[in-house]
Amino acid sequence: MTSRQRPRILIVDDTQASIEALLDILGQDYDILSASNGFDAVAAAEDQRPDLILMDILLPGMDGFETCRKLKNNPIVKDVPVIFITSLNMEEDEARALEIGAIDYITKPLRPSVVRARIRNHLELKQYRDYLENISMKDGLTGIPNRRRLDEYLMQEWRRAQRHAKPISLLMLDIDHFKLYNDSYGHSAGDECLKKIAQAIEDSLTRPADLAARFGGEEFACVLPETTREGALLIAERVHNNLAKLAIPHEYSPLSHYVTISIGITTTIPDSSSSWENFINGADKMLYEAKKTGRNKTRSQVI
Ligand code: GH3
Ligand code: MG
Ligand code: MG
Repeated sequence: MTSRQRPRILIVDDTQASIEALLDILGQDYDILSASNGFDAVAAAEDQRPDLILMDILLPGMDGFETCRKLKNNPIVKDVPVIFITSLNMEEDEARALEIGAIDYITKPLRPSVVRARIRNHLELKQYRDYLENISMKDGLTGIPNRRRLDEYLMQEWRRAQRHAKPISLLMLDIDHFKLYNDSYGHSAGDECLKKIAQAIEDSLTRPADLAARFGGEEFACVLPETTREGALLIAERVHNNLAKLAIPHEYSPLSHYVTISIGITTTIPDSSSSWENFINGADKMLYEAKKTGRNKTRSQVI
């Protein structure tokens, strides 16, 4: 919701007059999309990512309950709140709607001021939930995704790579002689340095599916779906180049006058028997090789 000016609401109803009635009530404050059956509703929700869905129960083909169930089982749209709007005002329907995962239930005839107020409240709650979800996945110091987000994303992309037999690469990055940096320039200078490096790593990624995260301390990781060893080496080179451009002075480093980083890479095309622990350990092992053979370099392997 933060990236858009106006919240977007999807209305699912097979009667044009009902859609227009809601449009009259909500059209001034929100961007309104509509679908006239459950299948189109699921497709529109996936495609357009509304902030809220208003759903009629009686729909041709798949009814509102079934459509809601489909939405709640769909990982892309499951967090979009669904409110049922219907003239069926029987208690068991209301209970059923809420059990399936709808957040509220509004009965016709619609009272415009009540509809507006309820929708505004639900959108505010949604916005707050999105905000909490977002900060719980971000590293407090650098602002890039944290370890929790990394684990979740890596697992998701690992499974996808397994299903489609596609390559996946993992970069582990560790700043060289960073203890010396802290000891020489102080801890807050160290923090500033970490922020700049996190940004430089993130700036080295180009595809939307690539993810850079803070692994912990002065270590970072990048998940590169559908990326071969050559592609991953290119990204690593870009990280080294971006750090060279940043040229953060580190006069006590025995390696260089500037802050440098070591990178380990594993690439694999996982099958159902592949272990993702081996995959992560592989990148760690390569990072250790990079450190052992002089630092400020990349070591990679295909497993
Ligand atoms: P190497 O080249 O072998 O990686 O040496 P190193 O000194 O970078 O590695 P080591 O693991 O011995 O030290 C890591 C240092 O990173 C320890 C700590 O001072 C620093 N560090 C870890 N997290 C933070 C942080 O959040 N802020 C700051 N300022 N420093 C941190
Ligand atoms: Mg370290
Ligand atoms: Mg280090």
